[in-house]
Amino acid sequence: MYMQDYKLWTQQQTNTAGCNKLGLAGLSITTMDDYTSGSDSDYTKYWIDWFLGTKGNEYFCEVDEEYILDRFNLTGLNTEVQYYSQALDLITDNLDENLDDEMREIVEKSARHLYGLIHARFIITTHGLTKMLEKFKKCDFGRCPRVLCHNHPLLPVALSDVPYTKSVKLFCCRCEDIYNPKSSRHASIDGAYFGCSFPHMLFQVYPQLVPPKSTDRYIPRIFGFKLHDVAKQQRYQDMIREESHARIMAGIEGLPTTAAQGSSSGQQNNKNRVADGTPVATESGAMADVN
Ligand SMILES: [Zn+2]
Repeated sequence: MYMQDYKLWTQQQTNTAGCNKLGLAGLSITTMDDYTSGSDSDYTKYWIDWFLGTKGNEYFCEVDEEYILDRFNLTGLNTEVQYYSQALDLITDNLDENLDDEMREIVEKSARHLYGLIHARFIITTHGLTKMLEKFKKCDFGRCPRVLCHNHPLLPVALSDVPYTKSVKLFCCRCEDIYNPKSSRHASIDGAYFGCSFPHMLFQVYPQLVPPKSTDRYIPRIFGFKLHDVAKQQRYQDMIREESHARIMAGIEGLPTTAAQGSSSGQQNNKNRVADGTPVATESGAMADVN
């Protein structure tokens, strides 16, 4: 799909150079609407322009051409990307045009993956951080949905540096928590294209951006009375109940089949099960987290 979009776009750019906006808008190609940048003067960064202008790619910044052309920066990526050299040629607009459609689609997919992986490396360089800082200031990554963060701008972050494992999340430096992107297009971007370290690296380099610690907290109340202590007590009671229920269930399962008299040793066993056994420990652990 992307390949065709890009191909159509390039064809239109070539065929209708200098055509008016109406002509372009009349085309029934969704990607023409998706393309937002409108810059067609710089043909040397053609593919990157297309990529950055495509809807859903707003989190990405433009990786410097010099950075891409320095092979040292791309060390190891050849083993991670299929058709690496063709993908790199496409990114740098040097791809041989004589590829069939199927092959071109594969290369196009690889190019997007390769660009993402290069992007993750680039944004933690000095220049990359500056570019992402500008996007952060423009709130290109959205704002924290937590009310007490007062619309603080977010930054993309990964939960894993390994590609194809986790999608990108958004980090708020005010509440120091992460959120899912609102748009499904953004929510499906691979986290590895930003990396786990990026936002923290940015705040290391620009510590003045870190907001002062706030003590603002939401306090649940019913008719003006704080619920906190009562809720804590209730959660504790729930936890005890669940634990004893689990102990009883474990006791039923662990009863010796020979005699009911062995109940004391059975209980001992059960105690061990409670201490070591995963089901009970998990439940109480989960409850402890809630508290
Ligand atoms: Zn926040």
